[in-house]
Amino acid sequence: MRIFIKNKYVYEHYFNKFDLNIGLGITLEMKNIYFDNAATTQLDPRVLEEMLPHLLENYGNPSSTHHLGRKAKSAIEQARKEIAEIIGAKSARVIFTSGATESNNLVFKFAKSSLGIENIILSPLEHHAVTYAAQYQFPNNIQFIEHLPDGLPNLDQLEGLLAKTPKALVSIMHANNEVGTVNPIKEISTLCKQYGALFHSDTVQSIAHLPINMENLGIDFIVASAHKFHGPKGIGFLAFSQDFKLSSDQRGGTQEKGIRAGTENVASIIGLATALKIVREEMTDNEKHFQKLKSYLITRLQEIEGAEFNVNSQSSVNVLPSILNIALPTERFNEMTLFSLDMAGIAASGGSACASGAVAGSHVLAHFYPNDKKIALRISFSKFNTIEEIDFFVDILKQL
Ligand code: PLP
Repeated sequence: MRIFIKNKYVYEHYFNKFDLNIGLGITLEMKNIYFDNAATTQLDPRVLEEMLPHLLENYGNPSSTHHLGRKAKSAIEQARKEIAEIIGAKSARVIFTSGATESNNLVFKFAKSSLGIENIILSPLEHHAVTYAAQYQFPNNIQFIEHLPDGLPNLDQLEGLLAKTPKALVSIMHANNEVGTVNPIKEISTLCKQYGALFHSDTVQSIAHLPINMENLGIDFIVASAHKFHGPKGIGFLAFSQDFKLSSDQRGGTQEKGIRAGTENVASIIGLATALKIVREEMTDNEKHFQKLKSYLITRLQEIEGAEFNVNSQSSVNVLPSILNIALPTERFNEMTLFSLDMAGIAASGGSACASGAVAGSHVLAHFYPNDKKIALRISFSKFNTIEEIDFFVDILKQL
């Protein structure tokens, strides 16, 4: 068996690590550096451990009245209670869904069908799971606020819009998934209350990084996906702040207060609650670790001439320490940069301000840099990342 190693740097630096198993073939020890944790995260083994009994032993249908069904039902309600406590909501106001996309869609569906909302005010930096869901339900009644160069929303403009927009729902994410900026949620919710608007915040990227108490922060709807914080994929929740009378167009059983018919994903619900508990307990240590990694990466990137940072992502104020959005100069880097990193075993995300070729355009970067064509690289950390991985990444970048 012959193996061709195309990347000279990888060959020179890592050939010694290859485990040559002559006779049985060659086992290659590939580098696997995962810097795409804002996209999804590795399952925490402790989460899997809690999930397994609900797949192998307690596999009853929570709607069944026998002991296995009751056990499953009670596990779900315990998970709901734990999540509600963590986010400062009442248990009855937490609904399990397949994740943030479904939860965001439900918010706009309810806004139209059950809450008497007629107008939507959005940030242009929202994830498509918010913008497209809002546009689907309210095609003609959406207004956008603008963001200032530091990445934060223009609150004066928001207030102006609220003052002349009745029956409004404001949707502004807590932390941005591309550049990591953290919006002033409390100030936004105060403005919404002042003008009688409801406030929805997509908390997918913040819930693992910042303590969120819905009641204290005055948010009416939040959403989450477990896979963003070392939980399983395909599970998340929608939580709301009041006993809204919500009617659903999903027909079937009475699960999830009749809002989401269908047999519950019991093991994943347990996984979601476990992952959230762990991340809350370990939040302070994790965030310190991310800040250390981020500061080190920022320092090392000085070795790459022309490297800058998009929006304010290098800041240690109002930005998640887990996200750094790097702007690479086009003289040395191009749309193949991400691919070359991938070849070296480094998984990261890209996105330029302009949509072109292999790399999809980023509506977030386009908002701030409408004419800029720099190559953007989003690095997003997890607790599993190390300083050595950053060294490897920067060394590879220097070779490109
Ligand atoms: N909202 C934000 C801010 C996100 O980053 C994501 C995922 O990237 C979503 C919503 C959608 O999450 P999911 O794909 O788990 O439904």
